[in-house]
Amino acid sequence: MSDIQIRQFACRSDNFGVLVHDPASGTTISIDAPDEAPIVAALKAEGWRLTHILTTHHHGDHVEANLALKTAYGVEIVGPQKERAQIPGIDRAVAGGDAFEMGGIAVEAIDTPGHTLGELSYHLPAAKAVFAGDALFSLGCGRLFEGDAAMMWASLQRLRMLPDDTMLYCGHEYTTTNARFSIDVDPGNTALRNRVEEVERLRIAGRPTLPVLLGTEKHTNPFLRADNPDLMAALGMSGAEPADVFATLREKRNSY
Ligand code: ZN
Ligand code: FE
Repeated sequence: MSDIQIRQFACRSDNFGVLVHDPASGTTISIDAPDEAPIVAALKAEGWRLTHILTTHHHGDHVEANLALKTAYGVEIVGPQKERAQIPGIDRAVAGGDAFEMGGIAVEAIDTPGHTLGELSYHLPAAKAVFAGDALFSLGCGRLFEGDAAMMWASLQRLRMLPDDTMLYCGHEYTTTNARFSIDVDPGNTALRNRVEEVERLRIAGRPTLPVLLGTEKHTNPFLRADNPDLMAALGMSGAEPADVFATLREKRNSY
């Protein structure tokens, strides 16, 4: 059994910061670097020293603290090859399908373009966790700033192949709005209703709705269910191509 510890905390207006720590090696990875102060505070609270930053994509709210943390801790920054030129301080570029190590922690990069063209998600098998940046959210997915719907649907299908007992961490707390949208498009989904009730309870208690089991997302997130016959029927799209169903869902969500 792995001893890897994961700490998640709020950053900026609705970003998540996440630290991954391996007590055996002392390795501490920041998943993205949204904001220096809360990351430093979380490190101090745990008594951990930052050794690495693992970047999902180039947007400012995910890389803003890269250089400050690199200066303060001398960390190694690892990120997507395709966005190498846009990631401040990057030391090592990786690509989808790569399996690599960061200070003794095994990481698998999953190609998840769509939100940006080079976005990677990172699976840590020993921690049974995946860090999906702005590709997949709880009950939602990232906006298509650079890629298209077919590209993002292919990305989400890759994430969907991970085991049900994988914990999903992502870049933002958008679940309340996503939950309202999901119920609107998939009102007959009992698993979704249960998850929405849980989301409401968590938010009332002032708690985050992430992480969440990927197995739960597979049954509740409409963007992971674009090929589900019940959801297709609810959308009036029975027999349509899943990529077209996905595109319709994404367009509806854009104007929701
Ligand atoms: Zn983004
Ligand atoms: Fe973001």
